[in-house]
Formats: sequence, C-alpha cells, structure tokens
Amino acid sequence: MSGEAGPSTSNGKRSREGADNEKASSSKKVQLADGSSAAASSSTGVDSIELTAPADFHVHLRQGEMSELIAPHVAQGGISLAYVMPNLVPPITTVDAAVAYHSTLKKIAPDTDFWMTLYLHPSLTPEEIEKAAQGGVVKGVKSYPRGVTTNSEGGIESYEAYYPVFEAMEKHGLVLNLHGEVPSDAEKNITVLNAEAIFLSHLHKIHARFPSLRIVLEHATTRAAVEAVKACGSTVACSITPHHLELIVDDWAGKPLHYCKPVAKWPDDRQALREVIKEGHPRFFLGSDSAPHPLASKYPSAATVEGGASGLATNCGCAAGVYTSVCLVPLCAHLLESFGALDRLQDFVSNNGRRFYQVEAGEGAKKVKLVRTAGRTGGEVPKVCIHPRHIGLHDADKGKLQVIPFWAGKRLGWKIE
Ligand SMILES: [Zn+2]
Repeated sequence: MSGEAGPSTSNGKRSREGADNEKASSSKKVQLADGSSAAASSSTGVDSIELTAPADFHVHLRQGEMSELIAPHVAQGGISLAYVMPNLVPPITTVDAAVAYHSTLKKIAPDTDFWMTLYLHPSLTPEEIEKAAQGGVVKGVKSYPRGVTTNSEGGIESYEAYYPVFEAMEKHGLVLNLHGEVPSDAEKNITVLNAEAIFLSHLHKIHARFPSLRIVLEHATTRAAVEAVKACGSTVACSITPHHLELIVDDWAGKPLHYCKPVAKWPDDRQALREVIKEGHPRFFLGSDSAPHPLASKYPSAATVEGGASGLATNCGCAAGVYTSVCLVPLCAHLLESFGALDRLQDFVSNNGRRFYQVEAGEGAKKVKLVRTAGRTGGEVPKVCIHPRHIGLHDADKGKLQVIPFWAGKRLGWKIE
C-alpha cells in the first residue's frame, strides 16, 4: 500500500554498503551540526550515527497487560525518556494516581525514565498543580477536547473554566499539552479534516492570555498548525509524530493500521512537517503519539464487537492509534533521511524537546548507536508484538493481546546496534 511504499532510503547507493570491518578501517568520526556524531567514510557517506539520550515527548503506555507488553518497547526503540499520556480508564487526574502509574511503569521497565502528565479535568485544582510541581514526577497537563480520541469522553469543551489551573501551571512551570482538535460538528462543517486548523484559535487565545505558560501543540498534522506555532513566542512548541511524516489521507482511508487522531492530512501538510524539521526549527520535536491497540480493536468484526453482529451495525469503527515505540528511533532516522534531514536527527529526537522541557541529557546520558542496515542483517520492524502469556492463543481468540506496529515487517534503513 502507498503508505508503506513511501520514500525509501534503505536501498541507497551500493557504494554505501560493505562489510563492517571495511567500514571500520575507512571511516572517521564527523561532528554534525546538531552536536551528534556520525561515522562517515569520505567516499561512502554517513554509515553510523551516535545519538545522545533520545526522548519521546508524547507516548501512550496504557495499563494492565498492554502496558506489560509495550512499556519495555520504549527502550527497545532507542528512547531513554518517555513523556507519558494520562488517558487511562479512569484518567490520571491526581498526583497520587500519576505517582502510582509511574511506579507501575518503573517495575515493568526500570531503565526508562518516565515523566507523567495529568488529564485536564474539572476536578483538577490549582492546589493539585502546586502539589504536582513539588512532587517532580508530573511535568505537564494534557488537554483532550471531548470525545475526539481514545478515552477522551471526559475531555474539555471550553478553556475559560481552566484559567485558574493554567495560571497555577504558568506559576509553577508545568507544561500544557494540547490535543489540538475541536470535536466534529456537521452543523458547523467541522470534520476530522479541518478539526485541527479550527482548533488553532484556542492555541492563540491561551498563549495570549498566559504568555509564560509553556504549551505544546501535540502531534501537528497541518501546515496551518506549523505556521501557528512558528508565529507564537518561545513558550509554544510542537510535537510531530513519525507516522505523520509519511502518511496522507489516502493511506488511512479504509486502512485501520494507519488510522489515528488527528488523521493524516494532505501532501502539502505533510510537506510542511518535513520542512520544519529540515530547516531545524528549535521548537519542533519528536512526540511519537505511539498508541497501541489490540488487533481486535483495529479490525473489529462480528466476533469481536460487543453484542455480536447486531452490535457491529452501530459500532463498526476501528480504534484510532498508530504504534511505533518498538522501532521509534530507527524509524525516525529512516524517515528524516528520506527527505534529506538526517543531519537534524539529534535535534529532532532529543535536543529540541529537552531544551523546551528544560531537561538536559547530562553527563551520563545514554547513547544510542544507529547503523545502516544495508550490507547487514536485521532492521525489520516486528510483524506483530504479542504478549508473552498470549503467544499460544489462537489468532481468532478475541482475548489474544497482539499489536501490529506501523510498517510491520518492513526493513528500515537504520537499526540500533
Ligand atoms: Zn496521544
């Protein structure tokens, strides 16, 4: 399908390939503009890249067995710091709940740093914001317009009611993470295709009212969003997912594995996302929005929908979310190289986001070494990720917890060494 046949760089020039030992002898370290280092041979181009402390500033790590399956994938995908979304059931609306969730994740994946968020909700008070700021585990508050994505039924309808909370966040240095879409409304001619562009007036209004509040417009998908964030001051930033650097409308219509919210938009919108990374704008960075769903939720059938065939008639939609954690950093390298932005990789996956969130990688920061897959084995995205306790279950078993990653089975141009 077209979404999987995008610009590929994995089979670049043959001259880049060769045995590892040949490269070792002919390569030298070069310093890239962004501070990362790359091993290059004068005649063959960059063959390996060492990245410092990649961070994913928007990831869904779920709960229960799904969490057990996918939380370890964060490190497997090359990420050392994960900024975790709060849309659980029930949503994370208190510091105590966030701390408990944090310790659960740490038990599953002890070597990954997790930063937590609260779910913007009527029960959230300025006092709770102060408590969050003192505790240190919670770094931000996520806003979901009501009903636009997974577990957002308790989301917001109007922002004015939250101004006291925003004021406390501004004062205590917490970040506001905006899911930038308004709910669809046929009366107002609003659909998933223009929901983000129409939302941008909210961004401008909140930014004007709270100029020192750090705001991230999450998972931007449009040229309008890119331009809106650029036009704001230094306290407004934007996260970009890898899948939105690849997908357009035609790639998700009728294709559940590519369906996410916000939906991918027009080719020109995708081009704007690529351009802003390529130009090295410092307020745009990686937030994968990696959002796993069980295969049965991506492909609901009469057998898997509650109520059987009669339920199917009223609930035939598939869950929104694209899963990328398991291969995230190599995927970013592959995509950035495809549009000529490989030299921005360190900025995109680490520096820009860390600068905005005011977290330095530090002296003992983890390094991730990427090497080209050309001339080597490996680099394939897993075809499926199955919970270890479910491997023996039949595929038709509705309870089998299995997740299909983005570009499942595809060979990426880069892998983690
Ligand atoms: Zn998300």
